[in-house]
Amino acid sequence: MTDCIFCKIINGEIPSKKVYEDEQVVAIEDINPKAPVHILILPKKHISSIAEMEKEDENLIGHMIYIGKKVAQEAGLKGWKMLFNVEKEGGQIVFHVHLHILGGGYVNLKEC
Ligand code: 5GP
Ligand code: ZN
Repeated sequence: MTDCIFCKIINGEIPSKKVYEDEQVVAIEDINPKAPVHILILPKKHISSIAEMEKEDENLIGHMIYIGKKVAQEAGLKGWKMLFNVEKEGGQIVFHVHLHILGGGYVNLKEC
């Protein structure tokens, strides 16, 4: 999607600190971290929200969770939170699906 900031991050139009990339996903550091470690896992496919996820996306979303676990462990975390904000009423601000990885200290979920 041309007006999506996460699509622009994925295609390099907007800079980001990438910590992982493969053919399906990109992992970036959150620009406004709410925890000492705050990483976002983005699918390269534009899906606006988990509320718009289709059955065909279940392997992709599972891959996001697996890569989230890998980058969390590579960041040295022994435990962490994994969060999808879903739609405006669920706290979603950027309408391109992303999995938050939060760890390394106290995490106030109201701020995430
Ligand atoms: P949401 O509330 O939609 O689940 O979370 C969006 C997240 O994206 C927020 O934690 C916010 O800090 C992060 N974010 C917004 N714009 C950018 C950006 O341009 N670059 C990066 N790295 N993170 C962003
Ligand atoms: Zn997008």
